[in-house]
Amino acid sequence: MRRLLAVLMTVMSLAAMAWGLGNLRRIPRPAGEPGSWSVVTTTTIAADLVRQIGGDRVRVSSLMGPGVDPHQYRAREGDLGRILEARLVVYHGLHLEGRMTHVLEALPRLGVPSLALGESLPEDRILRHGEAPDPHVWMDVGLWAQAVPGLVEALCRIDPREADGYRQRGEQTIHRLAALDAWVREQVRRIPPEQRLLVTAHDAFAYFGRAYGLEVRGVQGLSTVTEAGGRDIGLLAEEVARRQVASLFVETSLSPRLVEAVMRSVAAQGHEVGLGGALFSDSLGSPGTSEGTYEGMIRANVRTLVRGLATGATEP
Ligand SMILES: [Zn+2]
Repeated sequence: MRRLLAVLMTVMSLAAMAWGLGNLRRIPRPAGEPGSWSVVTTTTIAADLVRQIGGDRVRVSSLMGPGVDPHQYRAREGDLGRILEARLVVYHGLHLEGRMTHVLEALPRLGVPSLALGESLPEDRILRHGEAPDPHVWMDVGLWAQAVPGLVEALCRIDPREADGYRQRGEQTIHRLAALDAWVREQVRRIPPEQRLLVTAHDAFAYFGRAYGLEVRGVQGLSTVTEAGGRDIGLLAEEVARRQVASLFVETSLSPRLVEAVMRSVAAQGHEVGLGGALFSDSLGSPGTSEGTYEGMIRANVRTLVRGLATGATEP
């Protein structure tokens, strides 16, 4: 009942906002000055991609700050105003922003241009757990690069005068991502094959595992909304002990509680497993740090991984 009321209130405030801002939106905006139009994204990850391609033509802001869990995030009233004033809203889709779905799906009806990056990718590249699509596509750098053309086209549609710039930066971004993808492959090869088991807080790394050849186990499921998504902590601990995995990992946007429970369970089986550090999963690091960009975040994750899994490895 309370849930129904909350949904109803969100819909009502959205309608009120649309009513109030409807006229405002129809006022033509000055085009052509640098940074003269705004893109609102849901996550810091999407914001970084828009910045790479938008350059200084666009002002990019994300609704969720660094370290915020997108599965749990609910739109706030201030967010609705920002969304309705944006010339373009870029989000992930594939149910990443599970608690904002009603707002994001209402955007076409409200006349707000929008793009779901994850949903612009080839469908046969999307992993599924049962019926649910896995939204964590940015963890496969090569796949994330495939979101670039759709974003370039969306920017060109809104600001055709700068189309050449968007296309050029799009090409450069694809090249940079290809180099990053090759670097990740090279680094992962430093982990002995039998140690390539990545145990982390939630199922954010399946694309990473598929692309770079690691087995992954999230203690929680695909979304963080459900606790310990059916994964048996005891069974997981047994596997970690049997394979002599050196480290488990926590995530920057989640509590370490469940991973710590696995560590205790592993210790109870007589195997010493360490904490390899915190991985960035669904959010970048703070702005101004090297992990505050997508590329920096991927590099930081890979360094943490290789250090945690390769160092403690029993070398032949
Ligand atoms: Zn996630």
